[in-house]
Amino acid sequence: MRPFPNQPAPWRDMPSDFRPFEIAEPVIGWRLWSLLRRPKGRGYRLGPLSNMALLWEPRRPTVARCFCGGLDRIGPHHAPYPRGGCGLYVRKEPDFLRPIGNAFRGMWWAQDWSLIERSAAVLGTGALWGDVIEHETGYRGEFGYPQRLKLICPYCLHVYGPERSSADVLKASGGPARGVVARCALHLSLLGLRNLEVTGSAAEAEDALLSEYAVDALPGT
Ligand SMILES: [Zn+2]
Ligand SMILES: [Zn+2]
Repeated sequence: MRPFPNQPAPWRDMPSDFRPFEIAEPVIGWRLWSLLRRPKGRGYRLGPLSNMALLWEPRRPTVARCFCGGLDRIGPHHAPYPRGGCGLYVRKEPDFLRPIGNAFRGMWWAQDWSLIERSAAVLGTGALWGDVIEHETGYRGEFGYPQRLKLICPYCLHVYGPERSSADVLKASGGPARGVVARCALHLSLLGLRNLEVTGSAAEAEDALLSEYAVDALPGT
């Protein structure tokens, strides 16, 4: 599937006032990001949930890179590769993301910061374009940009679903990547994290994130 066969390499000529909604007919799907703090209070970044994935920077497309080149005798290749696992991911339905909210539940007791700071903190839609490969539950794409964003408590996402998963408080993860843990008040008290520093309200961070990425809040929040 290639929705834009004549698409030029878009990031090279991107004007400085790039607006994500001007891209014609991207594939839109659902995804989760971790939330990373920039140094000295200079805003936030949408981070990956895995160490085999990419940061999504504001105001420019994220370009997929291959992380599967050495596997299964596939040589270096363009991402997304049809028989590989590389590319930027979105899912067709937000409910498909629910299991991920609970994916790292055990890590709190292990205090593995590299995992804690990659726990899901932002739910949203993302646009993919360029080369896009369709799967049963989602898509893998070449270029991506977020469309609508909302800070979530990943455990509420798991238990109650996307509509009832808002976050209240952020705490610093303590890890080197400056990840932030987003939680509702209930799960903040239930799931430990007492020794972590409170860094602010989720609502303030969401406003900062929306303005930095020039996108709107996910409706219903
Ligand atoms: Zn690959
Ligand atoms: Zn919660």
